[in-house]
Amino acid sequence: MFDRISIRYKLIVLLGLSAALALLISSVITIYSTYLSESRSSLRVLHQLTDVISENMRAALAFHDGESARTLLAALRADPHIQFAVVNDETGQPLAEYRAVTGQAAVALLLEGIQARIRENADLLRREEGFVEHIEGGSMTVLRPVFFEGKPIGLLAVVSDTRLMWSKIRELVLLQAATSVVTLLLLLFLSVKLQSVFTHPIMSLIRAMREVARTKNYRVALESDRRDEFRDLHEGFNAMLADIRERDEQLSRLATTDALTGLANRRHAMDVLQTMAVRARRKAEPVGVIMLDIDAFKKVNDLHGHPAGDLVLQAVAQVLQASAREYDLVARLGGEEFLVVCDSGTLEVTTAVAERIRAGVEACPIEYDLGAVLHVTVSLGVCAAVPPPAAGGVEKMIRAADKALYRAKEAGRNRYVVAQEEMG
Ligand code: GH3
Ligand code: MG
Ligand code: MG
Repeated sequence: MFDRISIRYKLIVLLGLSAALALLISSVITIYSTYLSESRSSLRVLHQLTDVISENMRAALAFHDGESARTLLAALRADPHIQFAVVNDETGQPLAEYRAVTGQAAVALLLEGIQARIRENADLLRREEGFVEHIEGGSMTVLRPVFFEGKPIGLLAVVSDTRLMWSKIRELVLLQAATSVVTLLLLLFLSVKLQSVFTHPIMSLIRAMREVARTKNYRVALESDRRDEFRDLHEGFNAMLADIRERDEQLSRLATTDALTGLANRRHAMDVLQTMAVRARRKAEPVGVIMLDIDAFKKVNDLHGHPAGDLVLQAVAQVLQASAREYDLVARLGGEEFLVVCDSGTLEVTTAVAERIRAGVEACPIEYDLGAVLHVTVSLGVCAAVPPPAAGGVEKMIRAADKALYRAKEAGRNRYVVAQEEMG
């Protein structure tokens, strides 16, 4: 489920959750420590009160004077939080009581609680410095024995409600909740703003990747002004694109060129020739085609070896390139057969190029071994058309040039022959 949410929302949720958790923990700690300190201070106040009363209660207990004891306890009325107080004599019988709570049941419950505390802490309450304090539910109780000349003469129990303490804690909880909500909203707002620091570079990378996948244009490059890991990511992406680009170019080079001579291969030559013919037709310009074949090449291989034959092929390729014009197409169709296409080549221009090639090859010394040189000649078939014929015309021209080449061979080689067929 979390996987399907975008990174942007994941970050916002994560930042929001961590902020909420931190706030919750700090609130719980604050509230608990406030509870501890408030309960301690409330008990301290109750202790001070019981100290004063028990001090004054000595005489009343010593003389078993219930009236004085009641008067002393009546002073507790000044504190609205005191619910109940009782002073027992040394036998444990109540000498006097103070009640701020009404209702028999409530008083019985309080008395029961006091009796239980006395029973539980009997040993402690027999000591002069002994006391018991107890917080339960909505009330807190302090029990203190009263001593006279080292002997226990009674016990004072005062019960107070904890409303003050709880109202302070309630106030704090409300304040804490309000602060937490405001802080959380503020943090959420900040996290919405801050998430873009992380998601922006990722998003731009994703956009670029999608664009590259759609257009197959590997020439794009991501710009990054960052200095963190995102820069590495962007640079890595750019390097990957550069690699793909290089491999692409390498592949298309391999697919379109002949490995031995570096000339265009047959397939690429046919494609280019088609394009040239279409353009020439549109502009009503001529196209000239020269097919050529090395004479007695088999003999070169037989006499001087296959590597020498390869050198001859490379040398002829160089002469072809030097003789053709920059915008002409020079290709090796296979074996020792070559094709030259003269762009905008009239018959006159194409014939001139053919003769240049023939003379160039004938005059070219080919060093095939240390100091050993050989010469070869080529036969050529020339064909030109204004404009080049439509549908299937390119193949027609090549066939015509090939026939002319065959005639050049028959006529004794080392020459060019112009095709007799009418083109167009
Ligand atoms: P012609 O004058 O009639 O063209 O005679 P030729 O000997 O040139 O004709 P043929 O087609 O009989 O011989 C072509 C030879 O070219 C046969 C083959 O061994 C050789 N050949 C083809 N491709 C290569 C190559 O890549 N390298 C080398 N060294 N020889 C090749
Ligand atoms: Mg041949
Ligand atoms: Mg040949």
